[in-house]
Amino acid sequence: MAFRFVKPSARHALIAVLALSLAAPGWADINYSDLPDLGAASREGMSPTQERELGEGAIREIRRSGALSDDPEVNEYIRRIGGKLVDASGDISTSFSFYVLIDKTVNAFAMPGGFIVIHSGLLAATQSESELASVMAHEIAHITQHHIARMVDSQRMTPWMLLGALGLAIIAAKAGNSGAGMAAVVGSQGYAIQRQLDFTYAFEQEADRIGMQTMQKSGLDPAAMPLFFQRLQKENRLVEGGAPEFLRTHPVTYKRIADAQARLKGGSYKQYPDSTDYRFVREKLRILQMAPKEAVSLYGKTLAQKRYAHLPMQLYGYAFAQWRDGAFDAAWQTLADARSAYGSDHPALDYLAGQIRLSQQKYDAALALFRDAGQHFPSSRALLYGEADTLIAAGRYDDALVRIHSAQELYASDANLYQREARAYAGKGEMQRQYKAQAEYYVRLLEYGPAIEQLQLAQRQPGNDFYLQSEIDARLLDVMALAGRSDKRGDGSKLDASTPVAAKL
Ligand SMILES: [Zn+2]
Repeated sequence: MAFRFVKPSARHALIAVLALSLAAPGWADINYSDLPDLGAASREGMSPTQERELGEGAIREIRRSGALSDDPEVNEYIRRIGGKLVDASGDISTSFSFYVLIDKTVNAFAMPGGFIVIHSGLLAATQSESELASVMAHEIAHITQHHIARMVDSQRMTPWMLLGALGLAIIAAKAGNSGAGMAAVVGSQGYAIQRQLDFTYAFEQEADRIGMQTMQKSGLDPAAMPLFFQRLQKENRLVEGGAPEFLRTHPVTYKRIADAQARLKGGSYKQYPDSTDYRFVREKLRILQMAPKEAVSLYGKTLAQKRYAHLPMQLYGYAFAQWRDGAFDAAWQTLADARSAYGSDHPALDYLAGQIRLSQQKYDAALALFRDAGQHFPSSRALLYGEADTLIAAGRYDDALVRIHSAQELYASDANLYQREARAYAGKGEMQRQYKAQAEYYVRLLEYGPAIEQLQLAQRQPGNDFYLQSEIDARLLDVMALAGRSDKRGDGSKLDASTPVAAKL
């Protein structure tokens, strides 16, 4: 897993603002022909398909940077709360996807096509689940109102510009084969800042207003939004070097806070307790954005000095940090303390226990933990992965495949299951099936080029299963069609089906 530490910098902010500059004359001077093709960019207004393609291209680039969370508990949680908010928003025309970026900066952003990314730094900075949800509801509103697409339309943006506009120029440059993305964005300095701020302000207000309605409908605290903004702004005045990223990309003013509060007048006071999952995930993310040793020493120190807010969470965090640092025995001890301090059962405690036993190669113990907990918490995807991982590690490939295949009937779009299926077949030495499963994994990450390569590898393997062979052939045609759709050039031509998409990037 890769960890990135992106320091907020004034330049970052400038990039974010300037890249959105309306009809900035600077764009005309830049030669974009060197940039990799990220998919179709709109010139005359965007269709839902074009929005989706633009968002898919951008999320692919972000994933390639290695900074998206691959933690199953974090991902499961963010999708669940996101789904709850989407249901309340009443938008049935867009399919939303939620991601966590491991990055200490306080930020969140939405991309056309329903892609919403929350920085770990933002989640770690929230003091309640409603504060987190308020930001997510705001981002969902940007999408339901097609704000980004409207901005892209008015400014003739390419996906590279979109990444730059979102303050992700560094990721864009890193993921591409040159610094061209960054250079293009930086090249626009000096134009139309004020005009841009006026333009976005109306969008921000609308996203706040609709976001608060969504919060209310989901039974979450709509007052959390002004509270969170206010606290960020207050903290920001104390921090040297400037505002958290979210305040820069989302220009907060006192007027905006006052507007948000005015909307709440008349609402009666109500308690909004956090879900327990929120607290476990927040603790985990605080650790995931630190280096392993740094986290162990910080949590150890905080415990020794009794400077924690909540003992069970502090102990859980310490155990997780120790496990991540490879101190398995110590982690097991700390987790036992966390369990007794917490006083009841929680899947996050069981999952960590299973992971520690798995790391210690105590496969029977790990399997028992994952399976028992799975009975109590049947919807936990993390426990399911843990069970499959243990069976694979123990060399019980057939048992693993039985478990994985039955889970795939429930969760057909789950990339993680295909990744494990490939590993199980690799263990059995069934290369054709391994490559085929690996291809399905890539398809679910929207990485069609590598998926095509895997299917071509599968085709070249010797095998006498005619049925499997024709399945692979048919799937290759499907995936080539998907790749063609997502890789249309500006002139409308499609990729030659024999060209692996990856070769272009
Ligand atoms: Zn916004």
